[in-house]
Amino acid sequence: MIRSIKIKSTLEKIEMKSLDIHKSEYLKQFETQTYGRNLFRTQEEERLDAPNEECGIFGMYSDGDLDTFSLSQFGLFALQHRGQEACGISVLKDGKITNMKDEGLVLDVYKEIADPETFMGNSAIGHTRYTTAGDKKKYNFQPFFAKNEYDQIILSIAHNGNLTNAKELKAQLEAEGVVFRATSDSEVILRLIQKNLDLGLRGAIKATMEKIEGAYSVVGMTRNKFFAFRDFNGIRPLVLGAINENSYVVASESVALDAVGAQYVRDILPGEIIYTNENEPGKLHSIMVDEAKAKQRICSFEYIYFARPDSSLENINVYEIREKSGEKIWEQAPVEADVVIGVPDSGVPAAIGFSKASGIPFRPVLIKNRYIGRSFIVPTQEMRERVVNLKLNPIISEIKDKRVVIIDDSIVRGTTSKRLVKILKDAGVKEIHFRSVSPPIIAPCYLGIDTPSKDDLISANMTTEELRDYLGVDSLEFLSTENLKVILGSANHCFGCFTEEYPVGKGEEVELFN
Ligand code: SF4
Repeated sequence: MIRSIKIKSTLEKIEMKSLDIHKSEYLKQFETQTYGRNLFRTQEEERLDAPNEECGIFGMYSDGDLDTFSLSQFGLFALQHRGQEACGISVLKDGKITNMKDEGLVLDVYKEIADPETFMGNSAIGHTRYTTAGDKKKYNFQPFFAKNEYDQIILSIAHNGNLTNAKELKAQLEAEGVVFRATSDSEVILRLIQKNLDLGLRGAIKATMEKIEGAYSVVGMTRNKFFAFRDFNGIRPLVLGAINENSYVVASESVALDAVGAQYVRDILPGEIIYTNENEPGKLHSIMVDEAKAKQRICSFEYIYFARPDSSLENINVYEIREKSGEKIWEQAPVEADVVIGVPDSGVPAAIGFSKASGIPFRPVLIKNRYIGRSFIVPTQEMRERVVNLKLNPIISEIKDKRVVIIDDSIVRGTTSKRLVKILKDAGVKEIHFRSVSPPIIAPCYLGIDTPSKDDLISANMTTEELRDYLGVDSLEFLSTENLKVILGSANHCFGCFTEEYPVGKGEEVELFN
């Protein structure tokens, strides 16, 4: 049957405004890139409908002649999903620290380096940035560094996480005469270490850890030492690897170790400092700052959504957890259906798990356009809706007239989920059974993840039944927090955004100091 296409009536509905778009607005469209599951990310409203990745950190120490600068670029590239706004690397060569950071992706920032030799030192630290505290200005890009009176860099750090007492500490330091150059909580860590350097590096870090609260995984260097440390709850991940017996790598995720050919050794422990000593080249030392205070409380959302599926955190593979989450939600909320589909990309392993457990066939039906990193500029809501279909298109023949289970990693504001449902309805599915493999997100994160405020979190404001109605699906289920603990193998994680109980801090909006 030939269907006529109603071009005329469609055009009539579109408001044909002139495209009076200012250049700065136009350029703003290029600021965001599409990664991971951010299917509809190019509009701010859509970008907010996902918890956003925090930052990625990477550090390398080599007593040999490894090109730590190039390898750091590889490591940061592997961590690009954790932050795409800016990146930076500090390198230590012949007792001199050089820093190079800029806005943009790793491949863009380092594509034209006039004199790469300058950067080929034996230690390097790097950072990929997504702003969770402080504004997006260049002075907040990392690694941060501190200089001496001769304008030489004496200390550089890269931080992932959020401090919950940064504002008070900053005020105290300023009262003592410390000058801040940025508006990020990470600078508080830098200035505290700098202030305490008289105690020796180890003593300075220890004194800093005794003051700061919140989530922090840090790598850093002085002009003769390399170091890394992690907060007492180990909230943000930090893994240790080795390339050979004299070359070590520290990174947010194990994928960065793979990228530089390092073997995973272990995770940096909560409350642990590792460091090198100039008198014992090639040796890595470790101390626990306060064992009584140290707990294992890594962010559970890293496994559900943030980390790459090919990473392992605390020696647990992320892909396996995602597949198990699909199996578990089938056990928790079985349903009769013809096909299981996963929301690309992070819902797909769970959909495969659901399919294995239920016997309902999995189909990779939602096809994502991989080239949609930049935005179309469209003046009307109707055209914006159309852009959604450019980014994600279903294989209609696989789902038309079928009962479909759709698996997503989470529901945040609900707008993305609603659009997914519309895509499926437009494709003619008979029934839609929505499954989220994270529990309802009822509270924001103050520990290094950018989530909307409580007012915008749909599960904080609607019951599951109300949300089912709002989405217009036949059934809706969230993985329970109890089952999430079962698949993670323990309750030793942070579940704050599902339970409103945080391992540290008061669970209140952290006041920033812009
Ligand atoms: S509150 Fe949620 S997102 Fe934040 S660290 Fe805890 S589990 Fe992770």
